[in-house]
Amino acid sequence: MNSYALSDKTVFITGALGQIGRAVALHLLSHGAFVYIGDKEKKISNDLEKNLRRATFKNFQYISIDVTNEKSIQTAHKKLARPIDILINCAGIGVYTPFEARSTEDLDKVYAVNLKGAILCSKVFSADMIKRKSGRIINFGSIYGIATPDFKIYGNSGRNSSEIYGATKAGVIHVTKYLAAYLAKHNILANSISPGGVFNHQDPNFVRKYKAKTPLGRMAEPEDLTGLIAFLCSDDARYITGQNIAVDGGFTL
Ligand code: NAD
Repeated sequence: MNSYALSDKTVFITGALGQIGRAVALHLLSHGAFVYIGDKEKKISNDLEKNLRRATFKNFQYISIDVTNEKSIQTAHKKLARPIDILINCAGIGVYTPFEARSTEDLDKVYAVNLKGAILCSKVFSADMIKRKSGRIINFGSIYGIATPDFKIYGNSGRNSSEIYGATKAGVIHVTKYLAAYLAKHNILANSISPGGVFNHQDPNFVRKYKAKTPLGRMAEPEDLTGLIAFLCSDDARYITGQNIAVDGGFTL
């Protein structure tokens, strides 16, 4: 494993109880960072807590946060004993019903978490970074913020990606560029990572077709993403800002 010197860094990850967020938290802890594990649940999940204890990590704290609600973000921010060096906006949701069934509620929910949440968290947490004239924001885009879904591979799997998911992820990629330009004067760097589909025991037909379409011939594992995140947190990435990096096995080529 490459080792980045993150032991003087404090990271806040939203959506950190999810499949990708927890892997990112564990990876950054293994590089010595202090990690605030943020998610909408009141308490950390038992399984993640067990994993953290098993790895004997102590440099973390669970913080309940609803990224769709500015008050909740402000409350979470006030609870932090350490200023944030790196914000990772990982919280995200999708909707998988067909386009014909799309409701106003679906649109509002997905927008609220994926785009509004990332913007509001960036606003609140960058205040620490502005004061300290240093910081990083890492956003989660998606292959569907870059390309539209290929409907031939989804069939009846229930995994059809929606127009609103792709639109919010394209929005995240844009907001990343905006933040990179706007916050550059404070030495705050903003980048996004756009993962390909992560294997999570999806419908076998879908997995087979997804693999066949992907040049590297497999779906992603959360650990395929964590190395890039550690790099983007590190001093080695000091001249990279406003970029969206697809980690997708070539899916979007
Ligand atoms: P996940 O569903 O496993 O985890 C998402 C987490 O976000 C959950 O723990 C959930 O509780 C949290 N969350 C939802 N609403 C929230 C809110 N209002 N406030 C705070 N937390 C909230 O998803 P994942 O697969 O780990 O995905 C992480 C990120 O990566 C998302 O932004 C997702 O869109 C993106 N992504 C995932 C994939 C994939 O295949 N899994 C591919 C591309 C992009």
